[in-house]
Amino acid sequence: MNTNENLSPAAVTSAKVRAVLAGVPQQPTTEQVDRWDATDRPIPFSLTSAAEQLPRRATVSVRGVLVDVQCPSWCVSPHTEKLNFIEDLTHTGEAISLPVRQFDGSVEQVLTAQLVQWPFADKSEPYMSVDADGSGECNEYHGPAGLAFADQLVAHAERIRAEVAKLNGGRS
Ligand SMILES: [Zn+2]
Repeated sequence: MNTNENLSPAAVTSAKVRAVLAGVPQQPTTEQVDRWDATDRPIPFSLTSAAEQLPRRATVSVRGVLVDVQCPSWCVSPHTEKLNFIEDLTHTGEAISLPVRQFDGSVEQVLTAQLVQWPFADKSEPYMSVDADGSGECNEYHGPAGLAFADQLVAHAERIRAEVAKLNGGRS
Protein backbone atom coordinates (compact mmCIF):
# COMPACT_ATOMS: atom_id res chain seq x y z
CA MET A 1 0.00 0.00 0.00
CA ASN A 2 1.30 3.41 -0.96
CA THR A 3 1.42 5.63 2.10
CA ASN A 4 2.52 8.68 0.12
CA GLU A 5 -0.52 9.37 -2.07
CA ASN A 6 -0.32 13.05 -1.23
CA LEU A 7 2.98 13.37 -3.07
CA SER A 8 2.47 13.97 -6.77
CA PRO A 9 5.34 12.66 -8.93
CA ALA A 10 6.40 16.22 -9.74
CA ALA A 11 6.61 17.06 -6.06
CA VAL A 12 8.77 14.07 -5.21
CA THR A 13 12.27 15.43 -5.23
CA SER A 14 15.11 13.07 -4.58
CA ALA A 15 15.35 14.51 -1.06
CA LYS A 16 11.77 13.51 -0.38
CA VAL A 17 12.33 10.11 -1.93
CA ARG A 18 15.37 9.70 0.26
CA ALA A 19 13.28 10.56 3.30
CA VAL A 20 10.60 8.09 2.24
CA LEU A 21 12.99 5.33 1.25
CA ALA A 22 15.70 5.56 3.86
CA GLY A 23 18.66 3.42 2.99
CA VAL A 24 17.89 3.22 -0.73
CA PRO A 25 20.78 4.72 -2.74
CA GLN A 26 19.79 7.77 -4.80
CA GLN A 27 21.12 8.95 -8.11
CA PRO A 28 23.17 12.18 -8.08
CA THR A 29 21.10 15.32 -8.52
CA THR A 30 21.74 19.04 -8.62
CA GLU A 31 19.35 19.82 -5.78
CA GLN A 32 20.63 22.15 -3.11
CA VAL A 33 20.24 19.47 -0.47
CA ASP A 34 22.47 17.19 -2.53
CA ARG A 35 25.24 19.74 -3.03
CA TRP A 36 27.02 18.76 0.15
CA ASP A 37 30.34 20.13 1.14
CA ALA A 38 32.99 17.76 -0.18
CA THR A 39 34.10 16.73 3.30
CA ASP A 40 30.57 15.77 4.30
CA ARG A 41 29.98 13.45 1.36
CA PRO A 42 29.66 9.74 1.98
CA ILE A 43 32.75 7.68 1.25
CA PRO A 44 32.57 6.74 -2.45
CA PHE A 45 32.34 3.11 -3.36
CA SER A 46 31.99 1.06 -6.49
CA LEU A 47 30.52 -2.33 -7.11
CA THR A 48 33.03 -4.96 -8.07
CA SER A 49 32.30 -6.60 -11.39
CA ALA A 50 32.81 -10.28 -12.02
CA ALA A 51 35.81 -9.49 -14.21
CA GLU A 52 37.49 -7.65 -11.36
CA GLN A 53 37.24 -10.78 -9.22
CA LEU A 54 39.63 -12.65 -11.51
CA PRO A 55 43.27 -12.84 -10.42
CA ARG A 56 45.62 -10.89 -12.63
CA ARG A 57 49.31 -10.80 -13.31
CA ALA A 58 51.72 -7.97 -12.66
CA THR A 59 55.27 -7.47 -13.82
CA VAL A 60 57.58 -6.06 -11.19
CA SER A 61 61.18 -4.95 -11.45
CA VAL A 62 63.55 -6.56 -8.92
CA ARG A 63 67.07 -5.17 -9.29
CA GLY A 64 66.38 -4.64 -12.98
CA VAL A 65 65.00 -8.14 -13.56
CA LEU A 66 61.35 -8.27 -14.58
CA VAL A 67 59.40 -10.78 -12.49
CA ASP A 68 55.85 -11.93 -13.25
CA VAL A 69 53.72 -12.21 -10.09
CA GLN A 70 50.07 -12.92 -9.38
CA CYS A 71 48.16 -9.91 -8.11
CA PRO A 72 45.05 -10.34 -5.94
CA SER A 73 41.80 -8.96 -7.37
CA TRP A 74 41.65 -6.22 -4.71
CA CYS A 75 45.15 -4.85 -5.38
CA VAL A 76 45.21 -1.36 -6.90
CA SER A 77 48.99 -0.93 -6.87
CA PRO A 78 50.48 -0.19 -10.32
CA HIS A 79 53.65 -2.04 -9.19
CA THR A 80 55.86 0.46 -10.97
CA GLU A 81 58.37 0.75 -8.12
CA LYS A 82 61.85 -0.69 -8.56
CA LEU A 83 62.46 -3.27 -5.84
CA ASN A 84 65.76 -4.41 -4.40
CA PHE A 85 64.26 -7.59 -2.97
CA ILE A 86 61.17 -9.56 -3.98
CA GLU A 87 60.28 -9.62 -0.26
CA ASP A 88 59.60 -5.88 -0.54
CA LEU A 89 56.72 -6.46 -2.97
CA THR A 90 53.46 -5.21 -1.45
CA HIS A 91 49.91 -5.62 -2.69
CA THR A 92 47.69 -2.76 -1.52
CA GLY A 93 43.94 -2.29 -1.76
CA GLU A 94 42.05 0.95 -2.11
CA ALA A 95 42.61 3.24 0.88
CA ILE A 96 39.40 4.21 2.68
CA SER A 97 39.47 7.08 5.15
CA LEU A 98 37.08 9.18 7.20
CA PRO A 99 37.33 12.96 6.66
CA VAL A 100 36.88 14.86 9.92
CA ARG A 101 36.63 18.65 9.98
CA GLN A 102 38.88 20.38 12.49
CA PHE A 103 38.21 23.55 14.48
CA ASP A 104 40.33 25.63 12.10
CA GLY A 105 38.33 24.41 9.10
CA SER A 106 40.96 22.00 7.86
CA VAL A 107 40.06 18.39 7.24
CA GLU A 108 41.86 15.48 8.84
CA GLN A 109 41.73 12.05 7.21
CA VAL A 110 41.46 9.45 9.96
CA LEU A 111 40.87 5.71 10.23
CA THR A 112 42.54 5.05 6.90
CA ALA A 113 42.00 1.39 6.13
CA GLN A 114 43.26 -0.74 3.27
CA LEU A 115 44.04 -4.35 2.51
CA VAL A 116 47.76 -5.11 2.49
CA GLN A 117 49.80 -8.19 1.63
CA TRP A 118 53.52 -8.81 1.58
CA PRO A 119 53.31 -12.04 -0.47
CA PHE A 120 57.01 -12.96 -0.25
CA ALA A 121 57.63 -11.95 3.37
CA ASP A 122 57.66 -14.35 6.33
CA LYS A 123 54.08 -13.41 7.20
CA SER A 124 52.45 -13.46 3.78
CA GLU A 125 48.75 -13.52 4.72
CA PRO A 126 46.77 -10.45 3.59
CA TYR A 127 45.29 -8.31 6.34
CA MET A 128 43.39 -5.10 6.95
CA SER A 129 45.74 -2.24 7.80
CA VAL A 130 44.35 0.70 9.79
CA ASP A 131 46.14 4.01 10.29
CA ALA A 132 44.06 5.60 13.05
CA ASP A 133 45.39 9.16 13.01
CA GLY A 134 47.38 9.64 9.81
CA SER A 135 50.69 9.08 11.60
CA GLY A 136 51.64 6.21 9.34
CA GLU A 137 51.66 3.84 12.31
CA CYS A 138 49.32 1.09 11.14
CA ASN A 139 47.67 -1.67 13.10
CA GLU A 140 47.13 -5.04 11.45
CA TYR A 141 43.75 -6.73 11.66
CA HIS A 142 44.02 -10.33 10.59
CA GLY A 143 41.11 -12.57 9.69
CA PRO A 144 37.82 -11.73 11.42
CA ALA A 145 39.52 -9.04 13.55
CA GLY A 146 38.85 -6.64 10.68
CA LEU A 147 35.14 -7.36 10.92
CA ALA A 148 35.23 -6.89 14.70
CA PHE A 149 36.83 -3.49 14.16
CA ALA A 150 34.15 -2.60 11.59
CA ASP A 151 31.48 -3.60 14.14
CA GLN A 152 33.10 -1.26 16.65
CA LEU A 153 32.86 1.58 14.13
CA VAL A 154 29.19 0.84 13.50
CA ALA A 155 28.54 0.85 17.26
CA HIS A 156 30.42 4.15 17.53
CA ALA A 157 28.27 5.66 14.77
CA GLU A 158 25.11 4.44 16.48
CA ARG A 159 26.18 6.10 19.71
CA ILE A 160 26.79 9.35 17.82
CA ARG A 161 23.29 9.04 16.32
CA ALA A 162 21.83 8.51 19.78
CA GLU A 163 23.63 11.58 21.13
CA VAL A 164 22.51 13.76 18.21
CA ALA A 165 18.97 12.49 18.67
CA LYS A 166 19.02 14.04 22.16
CA LEU A 167 19.39 17.43 20.45
CA ASN A 168 16.25 16.73 18.49
CA GLY A 169 14.13 15.77 21.46
CA GLY A 170 14.65 12.08 21.02
CA ARG A 171 13.91 11.99 17.30
CA SER A 172 16.67 10.55 15.16
ZN1 LIG B 1 49.37 -6.23 -6.53
